[in-house]
Amino acid sequence: MTVMMRPQALTSHKTREFKMLIDGQWTAGAKGRTIERMSPAHGVVVSRYQSATAADAERAIAAARRAFDNGPWPRMTGAERSRILLKAADLIEARKDELALLDTLESGKPISQARGEMDGAVDIWRYAAALARDLHGESYNTLGDGTLGVVLREPIGVVSIITPWNFPFLIVSQKLPFALAAGCTAVVKPSELTSGSTLVLGEILQDAGVPAGAVNIIVGTGAEAGAPITSHPDVDMISFTGSTGVGKLTMTNAAQTLKKVSLELGGKNPQIVFPDADLEAFVDAAVFGAYFNAGECCNAGSRLILHRSIADEVVARIAELSKSVKVGDPLNPDTQVGAIITPQHLSKIETYVRGATDGGAAVSLGGDSLDLGMGQFMTPTILTGVQPEMAVAREEVFGPVLSVLSFETVDEAIHIANAIDYGLSASVWSSSMDNCLMVGRRVRAGTIWMNTFMDGASELPFGGYKQSGLGRELGRHAVEDYTETKTLNMHLGPRTAWWMPR
Ligand code: NAD
Repeated sequence: MTVMMRPQALTSHKTREFKMLIDGQWTAGAKGRTIERMSPAHGVVVSRYQSATAADAERAIAAARRAFDNGPWPRMTGAERSRILLKAADLIEARKDELALLDTLESGKPISQARGEMDGAVDIWRYAAALARDLHGESYNTLGDGTLGVVLREPIGVVSIITPWNFPFLIVSQKLPFALAAGCTAVVKPSELTSGSTLVLGEILQDAGVPAGAVNIIVGTGAEAGAPITSHPDVDMISFTGSTGVGKLTMTNAAQTLKKVSLELGGKNPQIVFPDADLEAFVDAAVFGAYFNAGECCNAGSRLILHRSIADEVVARIAELSKSVKVGDPLNPDTQVGAIITPQHLSKIETYVRGATDGGAAVSLGGDSLDLGMGQFMTPTILTGVQPEMAVAREEVFGPVLSVLSFETVDEAIHIANAIDYGLSASVWSSSMDNCLMVGRRVRAGTIWMNTFMDGASELPFGGYKQSGLGRELGRHAVEDYTETKTLNMHLGPRTAWWMPR
């Protein structure tokens, strides 16, 4: 039985009204249209945004361009930019509860988890602030007496930042502070489902001293507000997080003007478990990894690859623990799994489950939506007898659905792990570090966890192999991603001849 936390009615709820931030001004959209975001758990309108059109996107790009070409931000010292980013981190921390509440009401994620994401975001802003002072190029004094080579790192220019709905504040924080640390200016377009916390960030950045036009924030659909900022000739780089399909579209749009593109896309992350693993720790991690953020997570550990000798026992233990997972009201601090983002997305999850059972998989737990009287929820679900070629084993379900596969030999486990289009993350569980390292080195994914799951740190790069993305975020090179490299090749002393006789 699922532990149900029924949503409480929000009797005194008041809808928040937001404008767009363009050139330091909070402004209405050119057409005056709005988007309303309905809470996926509480049936109230959380936020009302101005819906940007291509004309608004154009204004935002023009402001970012002016701020880059003539404004103070790219010309400040690293120390000055760092101080402002640190101030922003302090202000985020001070408004953490407000930001967490907005993300929870708009996305349906549990409030305790949203608060944790704010702590993570504050740490990233501080980390990026530190990197702002350390950005530097190289010099070559080894090219002979007549040559000195200096390699500069210059901010790349205007960056379009596009983010998804599943970690609204955390993901913009994986991009924007690094772009700003490098001296870039930005146009940010959050998901139209969860734009609130990014708009509050706009207020925070103004209060922290980010100059007008350096950060512009527009809200709108992908087609109307997103597409123009991926193709406009005045944009120099795109940093996109979202689905692989829209990532490909973004790259196509960017190709017309050869913009630099950084893509953080989908995942279908294998967890390979050997018989000598600490099974108690794994079962806990598996339950967390499958249902965290209701499975609406690029890193979801949604594909278990268990050694055949332990598969039945492990599935039974995961099913038992899954029954204690608390599903329901995102505002209850004890809730572990909140609401599903939209009714349409819930139907998509159910379609995947039906497709798997039609193809011969068995439902070991859950399998249905959960009626809690308000909002849309899904029961933690375990599918066994899943075959590697099934859609549920290869595609992102983006719901609390675990697919279980099994293996006999190490080569078979690695083959199953790698035989899909994604390569975002994976985990290996064994008490033999030999096993972990040998398997970890052969699995094609950007992050390999060994005897742990979904741990992260601002210092550790994150990103995908194959169709999970292009480039890396976080880590000490994250600021460099937002730079161009310029070579200064200097001649010293008397000139030697090239072709002209002397
Ligand atoms: P999505 O691709 O539908 O939308 C992402 C963003 O792109 C939104 O802001 C959307 O409005 C915008 N967009 C849509 N169409 C566009 C277009 N034609 N041009 C420009 N922008 C457009 O993704 P989603 O449903 O919001 O998020 C879920 C996806 O994000 C999943 O695939 C998930 O794996 C992925 N994701 C990846 C990571 C990572 O770090 N790798 C992290 C979180 C989410």
